[in-house]
Amino acid sequence: MSDTYGFDTLQIHAGAQPDPATGARQTPIYQTTGYVFRDADHAAALFNLQEVGFIYSRLTNPTVAVLQDRIATLEGGAGAVCCSSGHAAQIMALFPLMGPGKNIVASTRAYGGTLTQFSQTITRFGWSATFVDFDDLDAVKAAIDDDTRAIFCESIANPGGYVTDLPAIAKIADGAGIPLIVDNTSATPYLCNPIEHGATLVVHSMTKYLTGNGTVTGGAVIDSGKFDWSASDKFPSLSQPEPAYHGLNFHETFGPLAFTFHGIAIGLRDLGMTLNPQAAHYTLMGIETLSLRMERHVSNARKVAEWLENDDRIEMVTYAGLPSSPYAERAQTICPRGAGALFTVSVKGGYDACVKLVESLKLFSHVANLGDTRSLVIHSASTTHRQLSEQDQIAAGAAPEVVRLSIGIEDPIDLIADLDQALAIATS
Ligand SMILES: *Cc1c(COP(=O)(O)O)cnc(C)c1O
Repeated sequence: MSDTYGFDTLQIHAGAQPDPATGARQTPIYQTTGYVFRDADHAAALFNLQEVGFIYSRLTNPTVAVLQDRIATLEGGAGAVCCSSGHAAQIMALFPLMGPGKNIVASTRAYGGTLTQFSQTITRFGWSATFVDFDDLDAVKAAIDDDTRAIFCESIANPGGYVTDLPAIAKIADGAGIPLIVDNTSATPYLCNPIEHGATLVVHSMTKYLTGNGTVTGGAVIDSGKFDWSASDKFPSLSQPEPAYHGLNFHETFGPLAFTFHGIAIGLRDLGMTLNPQAAHYTLMGIETLSLRMERHVSNARKVAEWLENDDRIEMVTYAGLPSSPYAERAQTICPRGAGALFTVSVKGGYDACVKLVESLKLFSHVANLGDTRSLVIHSASTTHRQLSEQDQIAAGAAPEVVRLSIGIEDPIDLIADLDQALAIATS
């Protein structure tokens, strides 16, 4: 696919072609586990990674492969690995880089599940995370030590309103000789291109805007192909003979595709967090209209955030797309097409008013998801960020008195009317 095509064209065509067997124009759902080898030599060549092809659907599948190509193209990466969820993608991104005793430096402002995955679950593998305020660049630098293998942050951080200064963080990562991993879930490649801002790896929860309608869970890791894994001895799985693949040197053999091949040949093979072809199909359908939906999500979010900001019953709105946001200027460079559609509001009347607001909304659904065509609402502190201490909730932007809104693509007049009636009840 020519990379001179615009985003609107690539989101429909990248990675896909008419089915060679039937001419089917839409990418078929290849609902198969196995693929017939031509002969024993063909099978051996595939297993040796001397020939690229399909072996078994835990590793690769033609429907999933189209999605991998499409998302890699949209993010401007060399390759991508799809997996079963956004959380799976985060483990898959870290897996080739980490080992017992190694750590990552991560932003305090992140999806609640990510904060728990990094502070609790990865310690079972002997990995650890140091959490830092990413607006304090000196603190980010100071947190990096000889065992740090990556820096991790979100472009537009969930639960909203915060935009990371990606070029500044990328510069720190470069200086330390480690990759920057950016979770681009809330922004999507339409609003933000982390690789252009210096990211090495991009991860996604495709569950959100990429699929876009709340139907499947899925994730992806996209590699820029630009990091020199052999520049130091920090990444032996990629730069030295890999014992888990009969001594293959991935960087030497695959160059800019080393990380992607490692993710499939070892990550998916041994961790098994594979995306199924049916889910890949739904996500491909969603991505075809990504730019159209994101434009509407952004324009609705602006209208709703502006209306809320001017309402007496509201204490604060943290939307980076509002001129009053401390991140408004940064948003112009990091995500010039808009600051997403996810933000928090604090209601006058505190915690109790928040709970009443959530329960009084009729059009907004009270669910844990985000990035749906439907508008959604949740009280983060008691749900997605529940496992955190109050101090960590505040640092993450999920204080007890705030409600998170994920603005959908409905008629904005109806969304505002719904908020208006619910606020009347919440603050009466
Ligand atoms: C939802 C989400 C995740 C986790 O993705 P799942 O698909 O639910 O596993 C990670 N990061 C962000 C920013 C998210 O919103």
